[in-house]
Formats: sequence, structure tokens, C-alpha cells
Amino acid sequence: MSRFALRLILILGFAGALTGQNPQSWTTPFPPHRIADNVYYVGSRGLASYLITTPDGHILINSSLESSVPMIRASTEKLGFRFSDVKILLVSHAHWDHNAGSALVKELTGAKYMVMEQDVAVTEDWREVGFPVWQRSNIALQTRQSGSRSQGRGRVKLGGVVLTAHLTPGHTKGCTTWTMKARDGGKDYNVVIVGSPNVNEGYKLVNNALYPNIADDYARTFRVLKSLPCDIFLGAHGEYYGMEEKYARIKPNGPNVFIDPDGYRHYVAEREQAFLKALDRQKSERPQR
Ligand SMILES: [Zn+2]
Repeated sequence: MSRFALRLILILGFAGALTGQNPQSWTTPFPPHRIADNVYYVGSRGLASYLITTPDGHILINSSLESSVPMIRASTEKLGFRFSDVKILLVSHAHWDHNAGSALVKELTGAKYMVMEQDVAVTEDWREVGFPVWQRSNIALQTRQSGSRSQGRGRVKLGGVVLTAHLTPGHTKGCTTWTMKARDGGKDYNVVIVGSPNVNEGYKLVNNALYPNIADDYARTFRVLKSLPCDIFLGAHGEYYGMEEKYARIKPNGPNVFIDPDGYRHYVAEREQAFLKALDRQKSERPQR
């Protein structure tokens, strides 16, 4: 058997295994809805995608799975917007549940795909990383969203909207938390879309040859997240901010249910404790010499 065929089989087998693991909520549709101002939810029950509309076209955050793309498109159209008007595609981080559909979104819309510098390698070739990521590897990046070295921040501008990228690494090397301002009821609010502060099953926080400074990066992420002013709390998965529960509370002319600064603070504090606990546990498991 040729080497090429072997690799192909391995990749297909791997993809199958991952598909089998996907929670059902990831592929369950969810009603698209306005969060505030020009910010809309167009994701599934379990995978968050956000549409930010502008007079010059739209920004989409998270292409999600390849099978999510038709759902995201339908949600966009249901809200009265054209999917073909998506001009810029961004992601929360380079894991397949947020970016496997990126090649398809680019194909359908011609959108510019902007990825945080530190996540570019894995976006271009998933074999670059030591943890499983499934995605089409032939994505041509048109623009690299590189944070300035001192601040780890970058800006994306379209039609008067400014999105700021904050490098919040650890979960992936280029994990990105997006912030912007949104106006609601005559007031300006700070929107935060958390990239992910989670330490996944199997992550090595100690003696990680592929990612030696992973623990320091998580610590940096919590410093950044705690420094961000947040009124409207959003994230890469709806479960970060209680999306379903908040959606159920939406009432016509009622208060904006997504304004939740306390929920944000509690979430970040709880996730930091979970990280510190995992770090302590892994340090104590190290062989003593
Ligand atoms: Zn992830």
C-alpha cells in the first residue's frame, strides 16, 4: 500500500472518530436572534456563531463545523441579511468545532479570513499541533490578524464597526477573545466574546514539549479576561454564558437579557479556579526526583 493511501485512511478514520464524539447540541438548530444593536446569534444550540452587520457588509465569527455552514446561512437569511454579504470571517480559536467550516464559508462568500498569528500554523495544517483538530487543511489565509507584540491586540474594522482581538492563549496558542461596543436603548455597552479559558481533557499543563509555556499562557488569559470591561457576556459556546436560559427570558420591550457583568465575573473566576486546580493536580503527579 502506498504511503499516500495510508495517510488518507488515517485521516478519514480520525474524522469519523471525531464526528462520533460531537455532542448532539452542536448540530441542533437554534433560533437566530438579536443580542444587541448589530450583533446577532446565528449558531446552533451548542456552537456559537455571531453575525455583526454593517452598511459595508458583515462580519461572521465562527464558521463551526462544515455541516454548520448551511445552518448559519439559513439563520442569517431568516434575520433578513444576505450570507453573500459576509466580508470578514473570524474565529474564537483554531479548533474544528469553531473553524472546520471556514473553507466553505470562504468559498460561498469570498470573505477575508483573519486568524490570530499564533493560530495560523494549525489553521493551515492541523498536523502542526499535538491535540486533535479536524479541518480542511487547504485554507488560504488572506490576512493575518497579528497582535502587536507588546499588547497582544489587533483590530478589525468594517463599515464603522471596530472589533478588538485580545490574545487569550492556552486553550490554543492563538485563542482570541473579541470585544466591541454595542448600543442598546441609547446606551453604549461593552461586548466580550470569550475565546475559551477551558483546560480540556488530556491537556498537558506541565512538561508539555509541544507547548512549553502553556501554563503561563493560561495565567495571562485570566489576567486579560479580568481586565476587560464587560456588560454583554458572550462566548464560543452558548453554555459559557447561559445562552439558552437567557434566550428563554427575552420579552418584547423587556430589558436586554444578555447584559450580565456579574455572570461574566463569576464565570472567569470559576474557570480560573478550575485551571489552577488542574495545574496543581498535574504538578503533584510529576515524578519526584
Ligand atoms: Zn476549543
